[in-house]
Amino acid sequence: MAITKLNTYQPLTEQSAIVLAIRLRIFEDGTLLTCKEIGDGNLNLVFHVVESETGKGIIIKQALPYAKVVGESWPLTIERARIEAGALKLQRSFVGDLVPEVYYSDPALAITVMEDLSALTIARAGLIKGEKYPQLSQDIGTFLANTLYFTSDYALHPFKKKEYVKEFSNPELCKITEDLVFTDPFFNSETNEFEEELSQDVQKLWEDFTVKLEVAKLKKSFLTEGEALLHGDLHTGSIFVDQNQTKVIDPEFAFYGPIGFDIGQFIANLIFQAVSKPEEKDTILHHIQNTWNVFSTTFSKHWMESRDAYTKVNGYLEYVLEKSFQDSIGFAGCECIRRTIGLAHVEDLESIADQEQRIKAKRTCIALGKELIVKRKQIQSIEGLISLIQSHS
Ligand code: ADP
Ligand code: MG
Repeated sequence: MAITKLNTYQPLTEQSAIVLAIRLRIFEDGTLLTCKEIGDGNLNLVFHVVESETGKGIIIKQALPYAKVVGESWPLTIERARIEAGALKLQRSFVGDLVPEVYYSDPALAITVMEDLSALTIARAGLIKGEKYPQLSQDIGTFLANTLYFTSDYALHPFKKKEYVKEFSNPELCKITEDLVFTDPFFNSETNEFEEELSQDVQKLWEDFTVKLEVAKLKKSFLTEGEALLHGDLHTGSIFVDQNQTKVIDPEFAFYGPIGFDIGQFIANLIFQAVSKPEEKDTILHHIQNTWNVFSTTFSKHWMESRDAYTKVNGYLEYVLEKSFQDSIGFAGCECIRRTIGLAHVEDLESIADQEQRIKAKRTCIALGKELIVKRKQIQSIEGLISLIQSHS
């Protein structure tokens, strides 16, 4: 693909996105292109450019200098586009087709031109409809093991690792997580949103100093443990699926953090399904169990193949896995609470039409979230975690 240098940053329109696609020579000269802005996300513009004759498409994602959902009053660095494109390319070197191919990226224009996945469905939307995705946990377990292992000190030369730490320093996006996941939901913050019926549950949460102390410890881990390059926002809205394939998108929150964070966020977003859809509970619990099993088996396999002297020290792998497991449970607990009473809610819970059932499901998420945070070190195995979720849902 010929690369033509473009002008300085300005937000694209449907027309200028077509001009860009032509200039990048992604399609044959003279072909008719159409374009639609399809971003249903919170932060960015997403353009779908399609060649009329063949139906072949591309995606052009562009960061705005503010959060799209709020507007210019919430400025946000366009650096996130550089982080996203860089993370997608690096992840692809470890997981192949589990992430979309990046055709072109330009940090100055804050754009990433990538593979069109519109034939697939966003996992959250499909699961809400009751679709089954047999490959989901196998693929996400593999994605987690490969990206987290191969970007860590267990795999990389220390100089390379530190280069990546610098490249993926992402303070503004991390602050969003620090505030919205680890701080605001546990205090009476203006950003919180919840139904009147949940007031008592929330008040009790805010007065629970055991929970608050454990969340402070988890937040410290998020702030200080640069263990591996995280996706940073691995919920079911960041995953495209069909019956046979899985593709992880949107790593603009990527940074070096604790291994358990991505695993915990994914598990929590499956928990919302288990809680909101009793008829799918067994399938979802199986996915949770399988995600951990595939992650730990694959991570261990990579570890055993390593030539680093420390990786042969008895008990070291078990220590890393146990710590990651406990962290995952704790981070899942924070996500359960955040998505129920914090700023960004999830459709899994919001779409429960019956008011009483919705409140009940949300109460379960708060109670389960608290228990996951406080008991994370007492849960001995993935079966133990599944039993705990079962006892609530
Ligand atoms: P944001 O970071 O703003 O949340 P996302 O990366 O989540 O943006 O994308 C928003 C939406 O745009 C997705 O939910 C999906 O509908 C669409 N989209 C994003 N990337 C692709 C892609 N590669 N192929 C097809 N659709 C995409
Ligand atoms: Mg995003």
